[in-house]
Amino acid sequence: MNFESYWLLVLPVFFGLGWLAARVDIRHLLTESRALPASYFKGLNFLLNEQPDKAIEAFIEVARADQQTIELHFALGSLFRRRGEVDRATRMHQNLVDRSDLGSDQRTAALHELAQDYLKAGLLDRAEAIFKDLRKTVFSEAALRFLLDIYVSEKDWQQAIATAEALESATGNAYRREVANFYCERAAIEYSHSQLDEAHTSIAAALEANRKCARANVMQGDWAQREGRHDAAVDIWRRIENQAPDYLFLVASPLMDSMRILGRMPEALLLLRGWMQRYPTLDLLAVVFRATLAEEGAESALRLVREELHRSPTLGALDKFLEAQLTQVAADQRDDLQLMRDLVHAHNNRLSLFQCTSCGFKARSFHWHCPACGGWDTYPPRRNAEGDPVVKVERMS
Ligand SMILES: [Zn+2]
Repeated sequence: MNFESYWLLVLPVFFGLGWLAARVDIRHLLTESRALPASYFKGLNFLLNEQPDKAIEAFIEVARADQQTIELHFALGSLFRRRGEVDRATRMHQNLVDRSDLGSDQRTAALHELAQDYLKAGLLDRAEAIFKDLRKTVFSEAALRFLLDIYVSEKDWQQAIATAEALESATGNAYRREVANFYCERAAIEYSHSQLDEAHTSIAAALEANRKCARANVMQGDWAQREGRHDAAVDIWRRIENQAPDYLFLVASPLMDSMRILGRMPEALLLLRGWMQRYPTLDLLAVVFRATLAEEGAESALRLVREELHRSPTLGALDKFLEAQLTQVAADQRDDLQLMRDLVHAHNNRLSLFQCTSCGFKARSFHWHCPACGGWDTYPPRRNAEGDPVVKVERMS
């Protein structure tokens, strides 16, 4: 009997506690939903209906009404920058930086964003100053990369070299190709200002940074040729064969000129034919073809390109073959052959391009520095159409 009356007392207490808990939960939920401004839902609705401009305006209202929504400020700021609205992005991030209630991590993140806004706006000095301050923070790696971009765009090669080396020790990634190219860029400026000793020191530094830097020897050879030191030019350019032979096509034509001046043409032809066999490229073939035509006549030039066409039946080789054929045909019988050659030549020119391995940008001439993505040494030393055989060997024989 006692047992039953005990339960009669306890049950309503449990019931009351359950009711209270449910009420507390409902109240909590109501408070939370009231804390989210209506603009927030409006913004979400616009986003879902793919109306980003209206969504942004709604979120700005939220950010204005509730200063606690720090993450929303960050998100809007970087969105504005991506959309090219740099002024709005800068204002948003500057407000964050100026706020006294931000923790040091959030303030650093806001500075990192603000520096990127300045960079996008072209205010390089302001961006540089902030990125320099960020080198000792968690953003150090990103800051160094941005600083490197700034120094390259300003052609401040001394700072670019120092920053690339700092990046190398910070990330463990090699920046040797970049550093060597920066030394080459500096050497070119020094040489143009007649600071010859400094220019040669920079070239030596480029080779020390990257002993495979063919560009350094291409440049040194050019200088020697310009100064009339043809023997030295030839010696320097020939070093590329032991260094990075795929780049020999870049010096083939001037090397031939210097050797012609030195009266060493038979030796030059022999040398370049050897290169063509070991490191064949269409640019090398074009130089050897022209030199053979001038030195040994049309028949020898035709034999050269015929052999090349059999070895590598590409459009470029066919173009040269037809050009050689034209020299063999009497002037009044050239019409058909000329038409055929013009067609092949135009098609080959359209296809034969250097292509950046980093961004895919195609260029008619070779670049050490990609004009599209800013990569260094990202162009392979051969044209992209060179590897595609277009004619079967059997058909030619
Ligand atoms: Zn590129």
